[in-house]
Amino acid sequence: VIDLRSDTVTRPSAQMRAAMSAAEVGDDVYGEDPTVRALEEEVAGLLGKPAAVFVPSGTMGNLIGCLVAIGSANTLSTEVWAHSASHVVGHEQGAVSVLGRAFVHTFGGTTGLPDLAPLEQRVAGSGDIHRATPRLLCLENTIGDLGGRVLPPIEPVVEFAHRSGISVHLDGARLWNAAAATGRTPASLAFGADTVSTCFSKGLGAPVGSTMTGDVASIEAGRRLRKLLGGGMRQAGVIAAGALYALRHNRERLVDDHARAKRLAAGIAELPGFTADEPDTNIVIAHVPGRAAELVDAWRSAGLLVGAMGPDQIRLVVHLEIDDAAIDNALVVISGASRRS
Ligand SMILES: *Cc1c(COP(=O)(O)O)cnc(C)c1O
Repeated sequence: VIDLRSDTVTRPSAQMRAAMSAAEVGDDVYGEDPTVRALEEEVAGLLGKPAAVFVPSGTMGNLIGCLVAIGSANTLSTEVWAHSASHVVGHEQGAVSVLGRAFVHTFGGTTGLPDLAPLEQRVAGSGDIHRATPRLLCLENTIGDLGGRVLPPIEPVVEFAHRSGISVHLDGARLWNAAAATGRTPASLAFGADTVSTCFSKGLGAPVGSTMTGDVASIEAGRRLRKLLGGGMRQAGVIAAGALYALRHNRERLVDDHARAKRLAAGIAELPGFTADEPDTNIVIAHVPGRAAELVDAWRSAGLLVGAMGPDQIRLVVHLEIDDAAIDNALVVISGASRRS
């Protein structure tokens, strides 16, 4: 079976499991797990931030990042800006609103960054008693539901946000992919963001784990919030070791996933009845108007697992268990299905 549903389906390698089994551990709720601390320091360093806190999931990392910003507002009615295709908006059960009691104002567009004009207008009108106070801008790099797109440089948006008293949270679940695709460092891509979440269980292939990074005060507040949310973990070094292994060994190879995704997209685009966007990173979006469900079923019977994104699009995600032969075989399945119909 070729599983292209997500880059979360990878299993830890023998070497990663060995690193996990050898991990030094302690009670991390007491701050005594040396492996968790090493991971937090390493990620903070990579992102150019003073501190980090290890959390069980990217969802919790995003929630904590958002809650830290919302909680520091001196008003009860806050507004969070996020892309309509972002993970925070589409895949987290609205947690920012449910638990952060914030109003989420979405923006659209194909780049992943907001147009500044409407945001400027909103800020200019925030003295109006009818309005919530813009407090936080959430960005996502890469932006998964736009096909793993790399964001354009965030500096102008961050500069505007900070000038306007708005914090910036960067959802960097796939920031490692953005770094590999652009040749920029994670720190330069995260520059200016107040808080950044990252994942180790996506392209990097660890079984569990994410971090939230930021300045010392944000991370202290975040550590308290993690406990409130039930995310305080005890001998978490066992999983942190998998994350550390992933960070040290599986970042450079992401360019291979990207090259394979490009080849897969080009192969799909050559088939009659299909178009596919040229991917920036490891996610291929194939356009199959009205046929997504039917094709997902047909390919599953032929041993290829993919995901439908609505009726018109199919998502295929390349990851570290997918080699060149798997791409060839996937293209055989896809071309076979297209010939039958
Ligand atoms: C997967 C993902 C998350 C959340 O990660 P989980 O660990 O599954 O909670 C957040 N943001 C983006 C962009 C993601 O792709």
